Amino acid sequence: MKYDVVIIGAGPAGLSASIYALRANLSVLVIEKESFGGKLPKTYQVDNYPGLANIKGMELADNFVNQAKGLGAQIIVGEVEKIEDKVVYLSDGTNYDARAIIIATGTKEKALDLPDSEKYVGRGISYCAVCDGFFYRNKPVAIIGGGNSALEEALFLASIVEKITIIIRRDEFRADKSLVEKVLENPKIRIIYKHLPKSLAIEDDKIVGLNIKNVETGEISNVPCKGIFPYIGANPETNFISKDLLNENGYLLVNENMETKVPGIYGAGDCIEKDLRQIVTACNDGAIAANNAIKYLKNN
Ligand code: NAP
Repeated sequence: MKYDVVIIGAGPAGLSASIYALRANLSVLVIEKESFGGKLPKTYQVDNYPGLANIKGMELADNFVNQAKGLGAQIIVGEVEKIEDKVVYLSDGTNYDARAIIIATGTKEKALDLPDSEKYVGRGISYCAVCDGFFYRNKPVAIIGGGNSALEEALFLASIVEKITIIIRRDEFRADKSLVEKVLENPKIRIIYKHLPKSLAIEDDKIVGLNIKNVETGEISNVPCKGIFPYIGANPETNFISKDLLNENGYLLVNENMETKVPGIYGAGDCIEKDLRQIVTACNDGAIAANNAIKYLKNN
C-alpha cells in the first residue's frame, strides 16, 4: 500500500502534521506504537496550550485524534523497525510505501536504575501518576526529579495521596518558575534537595520506602513511601533511524524546514534536536514538516 505521507507517531507533532497534510488532499497514514495523543493521556492537566487553558491531557489528546480522524486520517497501531528507500517496515512484518515520511516519535521516560527497580514497576514504581495515582490514595509517595513532568505530576498527586516527598539531585529545580512556586506552596509536598535515589526499601515483597544518598556527604537516609514516581527525563524514540541522521544523544537532526539529510524525510516534535519541548512547539514542527512535505511532493 502506498501513501503520499506516512507519519510515525500520533502525538501532537504527528497529528498536527496529519491535519495539514490531509487538508492538502494527500493520502496519510499515521503509525503509533503505544498511545494516541503521545504523552497527553498521561498528563493530568495542561496549562500552557494557548486557547485551551486548564484542559485535561486526555481531553486534549481526544481533540487532536478526533480532528485528524475527522479529516480522514488513518491511524494504525504498529512499531516501526526500519525505514529503507521510503518504505516503512513494521515489527509485525507489514510495510508501507511512502512518497514522504514525517518522523514524530517523541521521547520515552528514562527508567529508574536501581537494583530490582524493574521488578517493582506496576507494584510500587509508576511512570504515570494520572494512570496509577489512585492506587496510592491516602498513602505517602516519593517523586524523583525536578523537571516540569515531576512537578506537574506532584501537583496532580497532591489531591490524592497522603503526602509527597520530591527528591532532587541539585539545590535547584529544572522546571518552570510558576510550577516551582505552586509546589513550594503546597503543604502536602516536601522537598529533599541534593540527594540521589540509592536503593528500594522492601518489606514482604512490597515497597515501603526509598533509600537516598546525600550527594555532598554520602550519608544515606530513608524516605518512607508506598509509591515511587521517577520523572528523571526522557530519551528520544529514534532507535530505528540511521545513526547518521541523529546527534550524539539520539535526537533527529533537522533544519528550520524540519528536513532531515534525506530529501522527503522530515522530523517533528520532541524527538528532534531543539531547545523547547512543549505541545505548542510540537504542533509547530508538525505543521512545518507537513507544509514542506506538501511542497516536496509537488515536485517529486
Ligand atoms: P527534564 O526536564 O530533563 O528533568 C529531569 C529531572 O530529573 C531534572 O530535575 C534532573 O536533574 C533529574 N534527573 C535526571 N537524571 C536523574 C537521575 N539519574 N537521578 C535523579 N534525578 C535525575 O525531564 P522532564 O521533566 O521529563 O521533561 C522533559 C521535557 O519535556 C523538558 O523539555 C520539559 O520542559 C518538557 N515538558 C514540558 C511540560 C510543560 O511545559 N508543561 C511538561 C512536561 C515536560 P538535573 O536538573 O540536575 O539535571
